[in-house]
Amino acid sequence: MGPAGPFCLAALRQGPAGLLRGSQVCSALQPPAAAWVWPDGHPYTSLGRGLFSGQSLVPNPLPMFSRLFSAPPSAFSAVSTLIVKVTYRCNLDCLYCYEKVSKTGQDMSIEQFKELVELSLSQTSSDQLTFLFHGGEPTLLPIVWYEEALDYALTRAQSLGKRVKFAMQSNLVRLKEEYIQLFQRYKIQLGVSLDQPVFLLDDSQRGGETKVFKNFRRLQTAKVKAGVLATINSSNYPNFYTLCEWLWSEAKQRSFKANVVTPVGAAHGQPPLQAEQIFMAQKAIIDYMIATQGQALIESNIALELGRYFEPEQAKPTLCHEKTCGAGRSALGVTPEGHLLPCGRFAWNEPAYYLGHISEQQQASRKDKKLLAQKITDFHAKKPENWYDCENCPAQKVCGYGCQAFILRSAEQANLDCLPTKMRFAYYQEKESDLKLVYEEIQKRQAGYSRTFRIKDKNGKWKRYKL
Ligand code: SF4
Ligand code: SF4
Repeated sequence: MGPAGPFCLAALRQGPAGLLRGSQVCSALQPPAAAWVWPDGHPYTSLGRGLFSGQSLVPNPLPMFSRLFSAPPSAFSAVSTLIVKVTYRCNLDCLYCYEKVSKTGQDMSIEQFKELVELSLSQTSSDQLTFLFHGGEPTLLPIVWYEEALDYALTRAQSLGKRVKFAMQSNLVRLKEEYIQLFQRYKIQLGVSLDQPVFLLDDSQRGGETKVFKNFRRLQTAKVKAGVLATINSSNYPNFYTLCEWLWSEAKQRSFKANVVTPVGAAHGQPPLQAEQIFMAQKAIIDYMIATQGQALIESNIALELGRYFEPEQAKPTLCHEKTCGAGRSALGVTPEGHLLPCGRFAWNEPAYYLGHISEQQQASRKDKKLLAQKITDFHAKKPENWYDCENCPAQKVCGYGCQAFILRSAEQANLDCLPTKMRFAYYQEKESDLKLVYEEIQKRQAGYSRTFRIKDKNGKWKRYKL
């Protein structure tokens, strides 16, 4: 496998899941039939809202029939995160890109985006929806496209009593001043990949990557929220301790996310990283967190696992770190042409995984919805051999079970994270007393954030205060 571009160049394609993975975005991963709702939030049963509404033709019929007559969920029923691939154009062509990008090609039309907004906001039972703009490179679209798109989403959300949030995964290779203003105006949260400290780059790579870091600093100066994702890939896995030090001291980060690269998309068929290589990177991060007693940089996936290790009863459902993840239910990918995908980690041109088109969701029949629900269930049930022994595995306590999208798209169709998870778990046991201190610091940090509150000032701007 050739060298990975150190900043974004290899890794930013891991982006949407990078932002999502391990996050606390979703709490409604698999709504039971009885919890399906009308767009207005009422329980959906034909007896309650349909033919027999308001009548009592059968004594107490609901328990008997509600499951039989419950409508299947629509594509957007439980969605809280939409990964919107606004273009498949990109100004880079990264070795590990999980997309099929090109220099020219189609962008999402503004009409298509508005239809997505309309249907997703009106059909989801979630009171908040995040639009994560992805690509290709989303900053290749003109500013006016975003202004019109985001104003429309904000207006429709307000009229429906819902909230929308915006995020974007960008390679930051070009960052016009107007884009920084756009990020500020609409509070767009950026996701950026930084895979290597600048001083570890060789001369052939330095030009592009130093520019990325410079743009990253411009965002910081402008107080635009920018989260860092580092992929663990074949060129950087031995350097993670140094990367942690650099992210803390130079990039001024308090946390980051380290996701393992899976050879899919542009890297399809390349040999995957060995479990020992993955663990080498993760152990370096754990060692760094121990050495700094959790008071410096924190890696989010490991922080989540430490929570499950020390306080399993407190564990909250997450989008990705589950046996059955939120793909196809709380998260959906959307292609520039408006096709729906189970997750942003599928490429725009993989029709085998399409869940239908946006435009079909308005008039979807009961049969269509049942087929959709079955398709999603089947998707999660594929390749069960990856989890044949989970019940007997002690590491199950912390396990995230791998990413089904990457498993299905890779040549091996194997869960690359299984063995490294077992290795991490054994290391957590070995370093338990040191890690307890780290975990206590993480808890303090989280509690510190929850001891703050927000109030609008007289200009309508939110301000955060500490208790
Ligand atoms: S580490 Fe592997 S065997 Fe163990 S619970 Fe996770 S996926 Fe299952
Ligand atoms: S397929 Fe599932 S685990 Fe993978 S990124 Fe999507 S939601 Fe997360």
